[in-house]
Amino acid sequence: MTTRTHSRVSARVGGISESATLAVDAAAKRLQAEGRPVIGFGAGEPDFPTPDYVVEAAVAACRDPRWHRYTPAGGLPELRAAIAEATSRDSSLPATPEQVLVTNGGKQALYNTFAALLDPGDEVLLPAPYWTTYPESIRLAGGVPVVVPTDETTGFLASVAALEAARTPATKILVFVSPSNPTGAVYPPEQVAAVGRWAADNGLWVVTDEIYQHLVYGDATFASLPGLVEETRDRCVIVSGVAKTYAMTGWRVGWMVGPRDVVAAATNLQSHATSNVANVSQVAALAALRGGLAAVAPMREAFDRRRQAMVAGLNAIPGFSCPVPDGAFYCFPAVTGALGRPLRGRVPTSSAELASLILEEVEVAVVPGEAFGAPGYLRLSYALGDADLAEGVRRIHALLDEAAG
Ligand code: PLP
Repeated sequence: MTTRTHSRVSARVGGISESATLAVDAAAKRLQAEGRPVIGFGAGEPDFPTPDYVVEAAVAACRDPRWHRYTPAGGLPELRAAIAEATSRDSSLPATPEQVLVTNGGKQALYNTFAALLDPGDEVLLPAPYWTTYPESIRLAGGVPVVVPTDETTGFLASVAALEAARTPATKILVFVSPSNPTGAVYPPEQVAAVGRWAADNGLWVVTDEIYQHLVYGDATFASLPGLVEETRDRCVIVSGVAKTYAMTGWRVGWMVGPRDVVAAATNLQSHATSNVANVSQVAALAALRGGLAAVAPMREAFDRRRQAMVAGLNAIPGFSCPVPDGAFYCFPAVTGALGRPLRGRVPTSSAELASLILEEVEVAVVPGEAFGAPGYLRLSYALGDADLAEGVRRIHALLDEAAG
């Protein structure tokens, strides 16, 4: 009998690349640990502490033996009910607790959703620039990401015509994200409705990531795709969580809301993979949701102020061009105008090279567009303190002035 040679790591998992956003964060933290004054625009998390009333609920939960045990894999019943209620209120989608699965962050909700929906070879339309986790999560589930490029000339919004051009008989899912990470783009309600109607007419599933729904600025308004287009609801999964709204990234509570059969299948998967999300975190998320949106308003105001400072600062840098983002907490300037010129003995020819140079020369961490399927751009999070934000932009400006001068 011949023995098969096995690779040490499976092809499926061996093909996953490191999260580029976490890699930038790690590089910045390494330099910080060496004592260098790095300013980090890399992380996708609010700099605010979690609101006190949420922390207090968690402290009480720690002391209650009821929460020291396993609970249902699908989530605490009272939390599922609160999520269903919040979805009905904020996404205009009447939902019941049976349609909710509580997950270990929005990331696990995405993983569960793609695993529950995709068979090998199923195609998934993914507008770019996209958040770096989507293609990996889709591929892990056997799906094939089909990238639909967009750029700043259309406000980074995918048109129905562009989506239709990428659709094939193998297309099963559209990934729809508004507000977007990394661009901050927010689809206007009429375009959300048009995309939703197109998806419904073509029998497509929609996985819609609403994790930034409460971080929208100026005249922009959030519109939920299944909230607007009723015909999509039987084939639509909403992914969301408390991370960005309540400054709770480390607590790891997210959810998926969708048709009962898909949620039941995903719950079975989760029951074998991770079981229930940590109860203390679930109790904290419940307190956050029950507290409504009052705690979000001051954070949104601060983000809005920083957004304006950041856009103005970035647009003043030679070779940078930054559209005004309407949501989330990221700026996504085009930087092609800054490439191809000598800078401190090097000539950066890509946004990835420019990002490395900025980190090494002026100790500012930014994420290159390559991480989001969009070379030629940088992503800068403005979820950091006003003084750091101003100093970070000043350092990049001073560096790029050398190339221009
Ligand atoms: N969706 C988007 C668009 C995100 O940017 C993130 C985090 O950066 C997530 C989902 C996942 O968030 P978490 O897993 O922390 O809940």
